[in-house]
Amino acid sequence: MTEAGVSALIGLGGNLGAVAERFAAAQAALGSLGRVRGRAPDFWSLPLGPEQPIFRNSALWLETKLPARQLLTALHKIESDQGRQRDLRWGPRTLDLDLLYYGDAISYDSNCRIPHPHVRERAFALGPAAVLAPEHRDPEAGRCLAALYQETRRDIMEALTSKAELRAFRKRCTGRLAFVPTMGALHEGHLSLVRQARELGDHVLVSIFVNPLQFGPQEDLARYPRDPEGDRRKLLELGVDGLFEIESPAMYGAHHETRIVQERLPRHLCGLSRSGHFEGVMTVVAKLLLLASPDVMLLGRKDFQQTVVLQRMITDLDFPVELHIAPTTREADGLALSSRNAYLSPEQRAQACCLSQALFAGERAFAAGETDPRALERLMAAELAQARELVVEYCTLVDPNTLDARSGAARAGDVALVAGRLGKTRLIDNRLLGAVADPRLPDPLAENP
Ligand code: AMP
Repeated sequence: MTEAGVSALIGLGGNLGAVAERFAAAQAALGSLGRVRGRAPDFWSLPLGPEQPIFRNSALWLETKLPARQLLTALHKIESDQGRQRDLRWGPRTLDLDLLYYGDAISYDSNCRIPHPHVRERAFALGPAAVLAPEHRDPEAGRCLAALYQETRRDIMEALTSKAELRAFRKRCTGRLAFVPTMGALHEGHLSLVRQARELGDHVLVSIFVNPLQFGPQEDLARYPRDPEGDRRKLLELGVDGLFEIESPAMYGAHHETRIVQERLPRHLCGLSRSGHFEGVMTVVAKLLLLASPDVMLLGRKDFQQTVVLQRMITDLDFPVELHIAPTTREADGLALSSRNAYLSPEQRAQACCLSQALFAGERAFAAGETDPRALERLMAAELAQARELVVEYCTLVDPNTLDARSGAARAGDVALVAGRLGKTRLIDNRLLGAVADPRLPDPLAENP
């Protein structure tokens, strides 16, 4: 015990209701029991018990003169003030406060076991404590928390909801950081990028931000699909280290007016119907790259023009990041996975596969020796015409570097691209001529004939 008291590390957890607000209330209440020296960032973790929402976890460092038993009683009181019912083991809860460490004390008192009996096995308890107090020594293990956390299965994901938290996360990354920017409503296509990120980096960061700057006034910003809980669960299951989720006012601030522009590339293809779209994409990705400083960023080839525009921006502006372009994940019938596929009615969904079928037809014709780009385009257009409701926006063969329509003979590496609308839903797809096949999802019908 010092003048100021004992350093107690307290674990916070919860998965019912407004947990972030409960953590803040718990912190305020603990402030009356001593001096709060710091609070760890929040982490997401998968529940151990029956099916229930994912958990939010944190840790708090309290300097207190209260004896350990009294401190524990006070923690229980705060829990019940915050609506905690002590019933189901591993069940859902509003607020859970655990006394993880009490200075360097060891206690075998069954009502007040110190250190907390499971702290070293559970990343959701040890992780936040180790970030908050890396040098704190576990008196039983005789090692500091940072060293112990190095050896734990890291099945927790940092909940990054501000720029400051993202920067702090970056500073703590000790190895290569791989970054996957997304707009959420995650599907297998996104998840394939995340799996590749695991291979390419020691740490994986995913961002979910529905960027208003890249949506036109008539576009689907307001109804863009969102599934924060489902997204977090999927990313936790893949062992992602940090998830950056931010809303527009915090990302841009009230007076934002800067845009990144490009002379030529955004004037092709999607840029013709989506004025300002690529400026919005470049601006947000530039901000994300500056905030996160990843070593490698992963993008899907599905958005081919986006990869070309962003590679140009990275080269032109000397962003110190490597770009990794991942193949397109497709449904068994060839349809490229997209968050927007969720908008399609069953009839539209049945027609949507014409986009990929048109591209495959173009690819086959090229492989069979057809090199006249206009003939390839006509052939693809004929396939698209099979989709009754489809309003074709473009169907073209381009040079992959300039995005200009291919003149002269088509060659391997050229890109065939299609875009169109089924009702209000805009779909795009592309294939590199002479390239290897994209990954497909297993055909459920084939598994259950
Ligand atoms: P979005 O959330 O639509 O902004 O997409 C985030 C990232 O996932 C982008 O780099 C996309 O190109 C990529 N992506 C989207 N759909 C697919 C897919 N079907 N296969 C592979 N990557 C994809």
